[in-house]
Amino acid sequence: MVSQALLLLLGTATTLASELSFPPPTTLASNGYANWGAGTWPPASVGVPLVPQTADSEILSLISQIDPARMEHTIRTLVNFGTRHTASTTTSLTRGIGAARKWLLKEMQEYAKPANGMIKVSMPCYFQPAEPENGLPIGVDICNVQAEIKGTVDPNRTIVYTGHYDSRRINGSDYENDAPGADDNASAVSIALEMVRILGLSVAKNQPAASIIISAVAGEEQGLYGSTFLANTLKNASVNVEADFNNDIVGTGSNAPFNKLNQHTIRIFSGGTDILDLPEATIDEIITTGYQDDTPSRNLARFIQEVNAGAAHTTEMEVAILYKTDRFDRGGDHEPFLEVGFPAVRFTESNENFFHQHQDPREENGVVFGDNIEFVDFDYTARVGKVNMLGMLSMANAPDLPKNFTYVPLYGFLASDEQAPVASLDNVVMFNWNTEPKDPLLDHFEIVWRSMSSQQWTHTLDVGTVSTATLDISRDNAVFGLRAVGKDGKKSPAVLALPDSF
Ligand SMILES: [Zn+2]
Repeated sequence: MVSQALLLLLGTATTLASELSFPPPTTLASNGYANWGAGTWPPASVGVPLVPQTADSEILSLISQIDPARMEHTIRTLVNFGTRHTASTTTSLTRGIGAARKWLLKEMQEYAKPANGMIKVSMPCYFQPAEPENGLPIGVDICNVQAEIKGTVDPNRTIVYTGHYDSRRINGSDYENDAPGADDNASAVSIALEMVRILGLSVAKNQPAASIIISAVAGEEQGLYGSTFLANTLKNASVNVEADFNNDIVGTGSNAPFNKLNQHTIRIFSGGTDILDLPEATIDEIITTGYQDDTPSRNLARFIQEVNAGAAHTTEMEVAILYKTDRFDRGGDHEPFLEVGFPAVRFTESNENFFHQHQDPREENGVVFGDNIEFVDFDYTARVGKVNMLGMLSMANAPDLPKNFTYVPLYGFLASDEQAPVASLDNVVMFNWNTEPKDPLLDHFEIVWRSMSSQQWTHTLDVGTVSTATLDISRDNAVFGLRAVGKDGKKSPAVLALPDSF
């Protein structure tokens, strides 16, 4: 029999437990997204939980047309050229880099035809002298194969897609033996061709507001030659490149150890303050104030993750953001873009299999080595293609990035300045930004914020069309961005607030 005293004790304990229910249950937005990756602190009431923007039905319809069977055809054709080493033959019609680029050019031209001249296909080349130390024993022509679509509102604003079409073996100088390069990187080229095909059929009705360049680039394996050529050409022409979506090794998510999540996840690598086209003093300020996680490239990665979250029912993918320019000790075609100051990210499959990269095709003790087509999952590559096309079209049809978003250092504590207003001693943060020139797509601006340790923006505040705002939140506890919201609801990537007096 339970004693009265024990019942009393149990009753007391129950009461205490409910009174001390801690931590409080986390409140999620209806889609479970807003608090994803986020702490519940700081408890500020600024704005509302951020719900991912959703793509319009036209964009969803376009990305749904990405066809894994056509991608398989592209990858198979490229593999069948035997090798696409940068120094391989250019005289054969069936083997080598020359045959590959001629075929790519012909395919892009065919796909562009229905657009009646609205897609310009070209093959710009330059002569690259030998660099034996980089695996280029002879001088060769480096030729990118690309499609360009002019934007209707701001044609100088440009979103770029890159994926290299050359391949290699373990010995990077071996330009004669087979190097199938199915995953690395015919997979990304198949996305490029699918995007050109679908845009060829639709661009007359859906011309984007910003320009789009889709480029199959050359010479990645020896020295990022083609992407350097493209990035420098755009920089020298003062083109406003706001993103490079670089895809490299996007052919499989299903290798061992098998995990279904890998089949539905794409990694996006985005660099920090190491490569930033800003004055050194500003970069120092960003680092000393702890905002180094908010480079334009990382806000591009956040943007892609957000629009994908809003369309995950169509892409069937998750986006994993990595705070690194690339994988350990490796690099790719996004780097020449970063080096000239263009935001750029790298898409790479979730779980690489190194038995099938750069390996000479062979079998040893029952183990198959080589970047062969049988290790590519075309459905996976199609899903990666959807994430890319969704991100590119969403960005190209959103208003331009806000300009000159700055925080006022005087607000939120500055003890050494006698002129500091009393109001500045509160836990507030004050921002200014430009509203001119007005983007014709713009409806209003919104400030987004998140706790310092969150990876994704968690809160959003509509600030209308003004050029300044003061928020009741400490700039020490949160990170802030500004984005432009279009009349149709599309939102630009966020721009980090920089100090206004450094
Ligand atoms: Zn590669």
